[in-house]
Amino acid sequence: MDLTGKVAVVTGGSRGIGKAVCLRLGALGATVVINYVSRPDAAQETAAEVEKAGGKATLAQFNVADSAAVDAAFKEILETHGRIDVLVNNAGITRDGLFMKMKEADWDLVLDTNLKGAFNCIKAVNRPMMKQRSGAIISITSVIGFAGNAGQANYSAAKAGLIGLTRSLAKELASRNIRVNGVAPGYIDTDMTKDLPESVKEIILSEIPLRSMGAADDVAAAVAFLASEDARYITGQFIHVNGGMYMA
Ligand code: NDP
Repeated sequence: MDLTGKVAVVTGGSRGIGKAVCLRLGALGATVVINYVSRPDAAQETAAEVEKAGGKATLAQFNVADSAAVDAAFKEILETHGRIDVLVNNAGITRDGLFMKMKEADWDLVLDTNLKGAFNCIKAVNRPMMKQRSGAIISITSVIGFAGNAGQANYSAAKAGLIGLTRSLAKELASRNIRVNGVAPGYIDTDMTKDLPESVKEIILSEIPLRSMGAADDVAAAVAFLASEDARYITGQFIHVNGGMYMA
């Protein structure tokens, strides 16, 4: 796989899965634009690691849920780099709780970040990718978007929405040679999952045939494949990186 000369924007690229994606894409030769929202230190560290490994990286601070900020940031990215070949919609959050107690604000925040955030970013790359007549859009959905989970109605709805968005856009944009795919991780060892109680982790592990949580780089490997020309005939699909816990 070779991404030399390609420009890739990774939302939430500063930590966890996004960081691993930045390192993978950078190592394959892409110039990586690392988006973050609140932690410039983590983003700078990721950029330094990409460059240490011989890649190129720039930073872009914006909240994916803020359409005006997204538009302004992508305009600047296009001015700086001239093109965007790969968009990875990775930024995501959780605000878990049983539905009976779920606050409207927690519903809105998760939907705005995890689903509308992807809408905002795809809107921003749609036209330039159409003009280029090429592009790869990869969204990080979740096993929870396919299977559902008690206590995660907002997250599950957002991730399921991302699945529908991906399938529809795959059909809509295929004629312009823009491929739209998703990666659906299971339980991956990142900041998002580090605070789960040990008892919950034990239950989760007992449901995973491969008997361990995944690493961020396991997800990044699938993203890199979908971003590359090796996946040139693949669109509207999801790669499940979940140790076998859900089989689509
Ligand atoms: P982390 O919490 O480790 O990292 C989240 C990243 O998203 C950070 O870079 C953060 O930036 C960024 N971010 C959060 N909110 C925004 C926002 N509004 N605008 C821009 N950036 C934002 O998460 P993971 O790496 O675990 O998860 C990455 C993706 O993978 C998410 O979409 C998640 O839903 C999905 N996923 C994760 C699984 C897991 O088990 N970990 C399983 C299935 C799916 P900053 O550093 O500035 O805060």
